Amino acid sequence: MSTLPFTIYAFLMADYFRGGSYVCRNFSHEMSMKLQRKAEENGAQIEFCQEVEKILVKDGKVTGVRTARGDEIACDYVVSGAYPNRVYTQMIEPLSEVPEGAIKMVNGRRLSVATVSVMLMLEGTPEEIGIKDYNIFSGDTMDTDQIWENYHILGPYHYLTSICLNLANPGCAPEGVTQFSITALPLADPFLNVKEEDYFALKRRLASEMIDNYEKITGIRIRDRIMEIEVSTPMTIAHYVGAWKGSIYGYSHSIDDHAVARLQMKEEDHFIQGLEFAGAHAISGNGMGPAVTNGRAAAKAIFEDLEKRGQMEAYQGHAAAADAVKEGAAS
Ligand SMILES: Cc1cc2nc3c(=O)[nH]c(=O)nc-3n(C[C@H](O)[C@H](O)[C@H](O)COP(=O)(O)OP(=O)(O)OC[C@H]3O[C@@H](n4cnc5c(N)ncnc54)[C@H](O)[C@@H]3O)c2cc1C
Repeated sequence: MSTLPFTIYAFLMADYFRGGSYVCRNFSHEMSMKLQRKAEENGAQIEFCQEVEKILVKDGKVTGVRTARGDEIACDYVVSGAYPNRVYTQMIEPLSEVPEGAIKMVNGRRLSVATVSVMLMLEGTPEEIGIKDYNIFSGDTMDTDQIWENYHILGPYHYLTSICLNLANPGCAPEGVTQFSITALPLADPFLNVKEEDYFALKRRLASEMIDNYEKITGIRIRDRIMEIEVSTPMTIAHYVGAWKGSIYGYSHSIDDHAVARLQMKEEDHFIQGLEFAGAHAISGNGMGPAVTNGRAAAKAIFEDLEKRGQMEAYQGHAAAADAVKEGAAS
């Protein structure tokens, strides 16, 4: 809180009070799948398990991508879900097309948090176990600077959030089983020095500490009821979705780098023609809602660029989509 601009704080609070909160039916994965279906209905082709290894650039303009499989796909625009840190240091081909400003920008940004999550299937219904709340945030201090400090080490973590999915989505687990998770939000840095041979012991220790913490705070015993357990760390996120250092929330908002300042620097921070970014690492920042806002902003930037060059006719089929994007962006 000591470095968060009031604008961001006020905006978030207004959003919470005005909008309330929503829990997806089934899982948040279904939300992605709905977006996928809608995009396909609108004529998009989506290919899963196709890693883009290189973004091809010539004379400051995107010319295509190369997949890990070796296919080259020519295109005028790329919207990257990969972090700028990776794009500007490993993906642009040739790397000589990366302007110095892009490297300065990624070096100047500070990554926000990653996660350690303990995901559990517990024997018994929430009532039988004694769980009454869908979501609990717990900690031993309201001083967010202390919480931030504590998230710079390899545990034990004191500020935790626990979720019992059954209480929002009955039917999310087989009958008589409870789906439960406990999450801490450390930064990736302390994990960078963990040796491979120590990794599994570390995961076990962190999970055990987080379970102990939850049991102590709530008086609810869950350890004896564990049927299945998975523990994820920043390495897990980096491994499965390629997020830079396992970050889930892009770059942190601070007084010298936040959504409003980034918007003002939009032109200066745009380094390669045809390259846009969408995801937690883009302008609006982190979380599922802003990730959607960032995607829409990337689409809007592309349509505006096409219009500027008088090439919109070539994309006639997308005129309706362009209008929808612009209307959404305006609201
Ligand atoms: C345990 C946990 C709890 C969370 N809780 C919440 C919550 O309650 N509310 C909330 O708003 N947010 C929450 N988040 C954060 C939220 O999930 C992220 O902020 C959001 O998913 C970020 O979206 P993204 O598009 O940037 O990244 P991702 O969702 O990771 O999507 C990026 C996609 O790009 C793909 N990709 C990456 N590189 C390449 C490449 N080179 N080629 C091809 N594909 C590539 C990846 O495979 C991935 O599918 C939580 C996250 C975690 C881990």
